[in-house]
Amino acid sequence: MSHDAPLFNRLALIGVGLIGSSIARAARAQGVVREIVATARSAETRRRVAELGLADQVVETNAAAVEGADLVILCIPVGACGAVAAEIAPHLAPGAVISDVGSVKGAIVRDVGAHLPPNVHFVPAHPVAGTEHSGPDAGFATLFIGRWCILTPPDGADPGAVERLAGFWRALGANVEQMPAAHHDLVLAITSHLPHLIAYTIVGTADELGEVTRSEVLKFSAGGFRDFTRIAASDPTMWRDVFLANKDAVLEMLGSFNEDLAQLTRAIRRGDGDTLFEQFTRTRAIRRGIVEIGQDSPAPDFGRPHPDFTGSPLPRPYAASDES
Ligand code: NAP
Repeated sequence: MSHDAPLFNRLALIGVGLIGSSIARAARAQGVVREIVATARSAETRRRVAELGLADQVVETNAAAVEGADLVILCIPVGACGAVAAEIAPHLAPGAVISDVGSVKGAIVRDVGAHLPPNVHFVPAHPVAGTEHSGPDAGFATLFIGRWCILTPPDGADPGAVERLAGFWRALGANVEQMPAAHHDLVLAITSHLPHLIAYTIVGTADELGEVTRSEVLKFSAGGFRDFTRIAASDPTMWRDVFLANKDAVLEMLGSFNEDLAQLTRAIRRGDGDTLFEQFTRTRAIRRGIVEIGQDSPAPDFGRPHPDFTGSPLPRPYAASDES
């Protein structure tokens, strides 16, 4: 099912990894843009994007990509966005909507916003959807369906531009919400950034154990470890940038986490089963709540259909768009 009329004429994608290539696939499948122009840092990725036919044009420079585009989306690591914004600024079409997909928003507003001319509309965005895979082959058109896309328009942003971008994301299947960048960073610190840090830590710890061999860790990983290894396989560049860019919020959440961990440590040491039972009961209810609102399936990971499996049950109908 495709969109009645394209919402944008020319979409420029800078960076075509997991997220950029998923946007390209979904935007094309839904007919929300007339044309897609893409570029990536390396010749290797540009070649692969052309081979996969993800864009109408694959160009060599960021400046060439944004020429004449009415929607520009930076799909690159957070730490790279400022320099790229400075590079594209003189080439942007007046009235264009400039956005991104970065997992941290305060740093993007600061680093990107500073370079953009006043005659374009800057509307940062974060699609809260992803996998642990990277690169243009990893993307798929259904990635955003039923997931949230958070827009963090700066004060004074043009409501028309914000609504156009919201319509774009809804057409890709996402639910759209708006909030201030600083609030986004606090929410994501606990829901995404801290879990990744914990996964990176625990997988590293298991790797360094003396008495339990690496082969035993792998063999018995279904005991809980396996779910951490999936998260800990996420892209090192992306996650390095997330922790550098969202330092304050992550440190605040890490402070609370360490206090709670100390409490559970004490309960275990003292044989205080009531405290453990109470905590585990509370968290079980949270998990059930997530399943109830359709943000996960009750099936264990290994029972989950692969995104390429066309018969996969999707959380909501593809192309459900409030615009159409
Ligand atoms: P990815 O698959 O690794 O793709 C990254 C893209 O950025 C590639 O095209 C890469 O080009 C390019 N790139 C890397 N470093 C760059 C630099 N210094 N300057 C210019 N381009 C550079 O990454 P991704 O998962 O799509 O993530 C992209 C953005 O989406 C990040 O900001 C991340 O925070 C955000 N995000 C990710 C997820 C997720 O689950 N992965 C979810 C939501 C949002 P080459 O291939 O040529 O090196």
